[in-house]
Amino acid sequence: MKQLDQIDLTNQRVLLRADLNAPLKPGPDGQMVITDDGRLRASVGTIELLIKKNAKIIILAHLGRPKGERKTELSLKPIAQRLSELLKKKIDFMDDLNATDVKTKIDSLNSGEIVMIENIRFEKDETSKDPQERRRLAEKLAALGDFFVIDGFGVVHREQASVTDIARLLPCAAGKLVEAEKSAFDKVLKNPERPYAVVLGGSKVSDKLGVINNLISKVNLLLIGGGMAFTFLKAQGFEVGQSLLETDRIQDVNELLSLAKEKNVEIVLPVDVVVSKELDGSMPSKIVDVSHIPADEKGLDIGPKTIELFKAKLDNTKTVVWNGPMGVFEVKDFSKGTKEIAQKISELSAYTVVGGGDSAAAIRLLGLDESKFDHISTGGGASLELLEGKDLPGLKVLEEV
Ligand code: ADP
Ligand code: MG
Repeated sequence: MKQLDQIDLTNQRVLLRADLNAPLKPGPDGQMVITDDGRLRASVGTIELLIKKNAKIIILAHLGRPKGERKTELSLKPIAQRLSELLKKKIDFMDDLNATDVKTKIDSLNSGEIVMIENIRFEKDETSKDPQERRRLAEKLAALGDFFVIDGFGVVHREQASVTDIARLLPCAAGKLVEAEKSAFDKVLKNPERPYAVVLGGSKVSDKLGVINNLISKVNLLLIGGGMAFTFLKAQGFEVGQSLLETDRIQDVNELLSLAKEKNVEIVLPVDVVVSKELDGSMPSKIVDVSHIPADEKGLDIGPKTIELFKAKLDNTKTVVWNGPMGVFEVKDFSKGTKEIAQKISELSAYTVVGGGDSAAAIRLLGLDESKFDHISTGGGASLELLEGKDLPGLKVLEEV
């Protein structure tokens, strides 16, 4: 794979596929406001490198799932504005890829100048299942540039026109973000220092079975919290009341538990939980042992004994991967488990990687220090697929060139 820093890009038109898919909500004046600019900040490094290399920069990105339709609320305009603030540099916005003057405008860019093209998913070919349709868009894009950089880690698990198809048409390389993501996951998947712990949580066990199956032969310790813990607890014979439960996965969980025993992997489940009748914090909550979950309440966070237990288990670990919040962290009453465990992970002298969209969002929402983790992945789906041991098409295509 070619290293971006080693390639001469002076005066070259460089198409950069970034992942700027930040969460937005309507503001007071109807304008869309970015609620978490983590992905934008993560993209700055590569853009600055391209500026330094005197390239002409054309940013391609998406927002949400417009499915080929122009939707005002999914315009990249507010994203371009925020990114421009972060870079302290002007970004010219092109709101129509199909306008007749797009090519002339790009060709007349000076080196170090930046343009951003409107949400690439407004083009229906972008996400088409038909390779020829995707290729049609990829060709249109490739005609605008001399070189392609993949830096949208959040989309490397997708076979899409502006990700994989275009990479087959132009010389290309990974951006700094994709390189950093790759090397972090390589380290925890291929060469982890031991003891190695994986902390899993989140809502559904079915979303994480692939991850557990792949990691069980690599790790020493598996700590399980969040909604998924209740299917494990049920498999162990506990009654879980109204907690999240995937009855059809109990069998899989039982198989995992015996596989773990066979492989000498310690699986640690919650011993107490915070329960309430409602998930939104509108009803009183209390702490109960997992053997006493009331039939009419749901477990929404790990309890204080579990927090201490998980912390003690994490002491002395040398590699930690964390995926999935320990509770409903979005609601203050149920955020303590996630906050305390995330804080503990950040303070370890271990190599620490955070995967999963909600886990990364939780770190920022709960006000934790991002810089204390070795790596916080920007790609939820992509990071899960890597942890599942899958080959990602957007990374594979880089090896082919
Ligand atoms: P990630 O995106 O980090 O992989 P997930 O998408 O699997 O994480 O799960 C995140 C969601 O899980 C959050 O919205 C959180 O509220 C929810 N969650 C965590 N614990 C529970 C629980 N005990 N009951 C219901 N939902 C939970
Ligand atoms: Mg999620």
